[in-house]
Amino acid sequence: LVRIEKVNKHFGENHVLRDIDLDIHSGEVVVLLGASGSGKSTLCRCVNRLETVDSGVISLAGVPLPDEGGELARLRARVGMVFQSFNLFGHLSVLDNITLAPIRVRGLSRREADERARQLLDRVGLGDKADARPAQLSGGQQQRVAIARALAMDPQVLLFDEPTSALDPETVGEVLDVMAALAADGMTMLVVTHEMGFARRVADRIVFLDEGRVHETATPDEFFDAPRTERAREFLSKVL
Ligand code: ATP
Ligand code: MG
Repeated sequence: LVRIEKVNKHFGENHVLRDIDLDIHSGEVVVLLGASGSGKSTLCRCVNRLETVDSGVISLAGVPLPDEGGELARLRARVGMVFQSFNLFGHLSVLDNITLAPIRVRGLSRREADERARQLLDRVGLGDKADARPAQLSGGQQQRVAIARALAMDPQVLLFDEPTSALDPETVGEVLDVMAALAADGMTMLVVTHEMGFARRVADRIVFLDEGRVHETATPDEFFDAPRTERAREFLSKVL
């Protein structure tokens, strides 16, 4: 569904992504692991074109992402992204945060968008919070709103970049539970996380980045029980 072929990215002299090849199949959950600075966020940002690539191709359902133009906007609308900082609009209600893009970008009527948003709020366990403002919610609740907002665009794939890193420990679990439920429902997901329990339980595949290269690709059991490379062993000794 997502095909990343020979992707390279530099920031100045810094060669951040090196010949990245990665296919994410429909319904698959790929967890990206790697040390700080290994290029995880940059790779996610390239997939939804918050960053352009220097060489290589990223395609979505067989269609290469162009650098700009209407076709890019159309494809990007199908790639949902959930960030560490939830980026909700503070002056809008929870419901309006979720319906804004579907109404503006997808042309849904207010009624259709509201109905869908309420279904999604139920799905993330926040059916009673439609009229709240983001500031009235806990971090975990805000992140679940952000997930509902991403889902409202009917994404083909969802990207998560450390979605629980900014949360109080006691609200991490509720966000991971929502993500695990999405995975079980067959959502295609690329997830950057430091939650190794989640990675092991939910990932179909672990991709370990090191200095901008795909250093190791393995099933969670293989990766956590018997990493093949020294760098992966070193990484795991620090995070487990
Ligand atoms: P972390 O675990 O700390 O989030 P990461 O694996 O997500 O790390 P990236 O944020 O992708 O790493 O960064 C990879 C490299 O690219 C780093 O050396 C970083 O300094 C550099 N970098 C990232 N974004 C930019 C930018 N906008 N301009 C210049 N350099 C950047
Ligand atoms: Mg990062």
